[in-house]
Amino acid sequence: MDVDPAERGPLRELSTRTLDCVHCGLCLPVCPTYRESGREQSSPRGRVYLMRAFAEGRIPLGPGVAEEMYLCLGCRACETACPSGVRYGSMLEAMRTEVEKAGLRRGLAKRIETFALRALVPHPRRLRRAIDALAIVERLRLDRLSTRVLPGPLRELAALAPRVPPLRDRRPLPGFVRAQGTRRGRVALFVGCVMPELFGRVNHATARVLARNGFDVVVPPDQGCCGALHAHAGDAEFAQHLARRNAAAIGRAQVDALVVNSAGCGAALREAGEWLGEEGAALAVSVRDVCELLDAAGLRAPAAQGGAKPPLRVCYDDPCHLVHGQRVAEAPRRLLRRIPGVELVAHEDPTSCCGAAGIYALTHRAMASAVLERKMASLAAVDPDVVASGNPGCILQLRTGVARSGLRARVAHPIELLDEAYAAEEGLPSKRS
Ligand code: SF4
Ligand code: SF4
Repeated sequence: MDVDPAERGPLRELSTRTLDCVHCGLCLPVCPTYRESGREQSSPRGRVYLMRAFAEGRIPLGPGVAEEMYLCLGCRACETACPSGVRYGSMLEAMRTEVEKAGLRRGLAKRIETFALRALVPHPRRLRRAIDALAIVERLRLDRLSTRVLPGPLRELAALAPRVPPLRDRRPLPGFVRAQGTRRGRVALFVGCVMPELFGRVNHATARVLARNGFDVVVPPDQGCCGALHAHAGDAEFAQHLARRNAAAIGRAQVDALVVNSAGCGAALREAGEWLGEEGAALAVSVRDVCELLDAAGLRAPAAQGGAKPPLRVCYDDPCHLVHGQRVAEAPRRLLRRIPGVELVAHEDPTSCCGAAGIYALTHRAMASAVLERKMASLAAVDPDVVASGNPGCILQLRTGVARSGLRARVAHPIELLDEAYAAEEGLPSKRS
């Protein structure tokens, strides 16, 4: 589809940004889709070339270009590798917005995506009811049946559905958790949309760990979904609407920082200035990943417990939107090293994508599986007791990978491991996921 010259105005900025690319190719070896396909058009350099050609009106926006934009995982490894400062992530979002405007993605999968992103994810009560329904399906073992009777895309969606945690892990957080010991600050905790239902344990652990480290924790009731999935799906307008709501909610909370324990949400919230201009600037600069904050503040390390035990071998795997999207790499590793009994072990490929990328595993199953397989081969060589990663999508994807490859490792958020160490210090039973 060609674009009316009158509508090319918004593309001028995209066109200008593509000029940062000097075609050096240093991003190619880190790009998962290039590594798997070997095709130039499936590399960052190739995609930047396509974006520029489209933005300058030299090629139409057709299904081939659209598919390359969605075959990209949005992992932003190319940004870290790029010596020229190409801001690939925001260019990709702009390009996907054009794909959506042109109506190039249709069909059942697209309709499910739109329904989930617009009508379900941003509405906590509806989302809770949907997760309640999923819990019933799992309890009655209907999920096994669904993998046989549902049509193609729905069957694949059902197969990827996560296990619903027990109700005690889905209980709401209190509005305020008081700091223990000397008070070091007042922070807001960003709870996310799916996190309370599927990773409530991590949210509760985060509040406890922050309080133990001297932070008053406020949980603003009027916060909501960060908009990351919407922006990645080319729905910039709705992502901005959600960012506006969060900017107002966090502004009212009057805190020193907004603490985020989901890498994808953190990266999106840091974009609020870009999405909203001045209106989102204060929100963007207030964002701190929970590991980043604790590391900068100086962690009150858990005390060692008596009795010699074999070390717990923990392998940290970087979430793309933490290491590439927020440039936080060492903080989680430093925190993990301070947990008594933990031996931090490294695998060869920690900063490459695991293939989670929102609903990518549903829309691009073959590529997602190939990317995950490469990651699991690297982890298998180390064979850790625990794989630690700070993003819910990555945790789910890594759990799938662990189950598929027959590894024995548990997959957990670094904050869960810290929380368990504090619980052990107090002689409390460990709250393991
Ligand atoms: S975001 Fe990831 S998958 Fe996409 S071009 Fe960059 S490195 Fe490749
Ligand atoms: S590393 Fe940066 S400048 Fe070099 S080809 Fe990739 S995007 Fe372009």
